[in-house]
Amino acid sequence: MAKLLRQAHNAHTAWRDGLVVKFMLGRQGVVYRLSPWLIVGCFLLLAAGLQAVLANQAAREERLRQRIASLEEDKRQALTFLQRKEREKKQALALAQLRSDELWDELRARDKQMDQIWKVVGKNPTARSKQRRSLSVSRSRTHPLVLKRRYLELQRALHGEDGEMKKLRTAAVSYRKEKVRQAELALWNTHPTLWPCDGYFSSPFGYRIHPILGYARFHSGCDISAGTGTPIRATAAGRVTGADYLGGYGLAVTIDHGAGLSTLYGHCSAVSVKSGDYVRKGQIVASVGSTGMSTGPHCHYEVHQNGAQIDPAPFMQSHR
Ligand SMILES: [Zn+2]
Repeated sequence: MAKLLRQAHNAHTAWRDGLVVKFMLGRQGVVYRLSPWLIVGCFLLLAAGLQAVLANQAAREERLRQRIASLEEDKRQALTFLQRKEREKKQALALAQLRSDELWDELRARDKQMDQIWKVVGKNPTARSKQRRSLSVSRSRTHPLVLKRRYLELQRALHGEDGEMKKLRTAAVSYRKEKVRQAELALWNTHPTLWPCDGYFSSPFGYRIHPILGYARFHSGCDISAGTGTPIRATAAGRVTGADYLGGYGLAVTIDHGAGLSTLYGHCSAVSVKSGDYVRKGQIVASVGSTGMSTGPHCHYEVHQNGAQIDPAPFMQSHR
């Protein structure tokens, strides 16, 4: 117990006396006595310094964390942006693909229409199949460059830069002209515009004093006086409906020209066709004579419209 008390007293004395530090410089010893307050002060300073360093460290770490968080946010936004752009690109491509396919269908429909017109107006001089094939094979390809080229080519093809439309228009105009010409020819062919024979116009259509009967009587045609044997021609193309004796007309030829028109040639000396024959316009069908009720060789010429006798004079435009 006494020993413990002594140790405590010594410790107290040592604390009060301070820390003795002894340096040996050569053979001389230097002794420092450090005050306990100084030591406590040093400890306090050291602790404060350490705490400042630690606080600084923590602040730096916090700043770094914030920076990382901010960068993470930037990255997330960038990714979202990229995803959106990618989506938009896909949508744009899908749209371009769709539009291209629409153009392609439109082009095909137009080609079909043009082919139908070509079938009517003539042979298509344009070889478009090669170009169309190149446009159709890329239908399923979606590379943006391929798509763009195809789109442009389709547009060009549709806007008729291939010139086919122009050719078609020219062909259609020629076709129409030809059709009109054919129609006019057909009309001319079946219209009795010729004189039935050479000679002079001796008696018109209408009421007149009959040369044999001696009284006013309706003359159902016109007379052209000519020498016996003068050729009588069909004034229009048609089908012969009679070539025989026909009462007062004597030996007569009748021809049906269609569209309600027919002609009659009377008092012939001979006929060179028979019923049922088809004759050209201007073809010789008989010869001038004086058969039937006639006073001299002439051709009695009648034009019938829907069965009624009409004045032939307005029809007679030329001799051949
Ligand atoms: Zn007559």
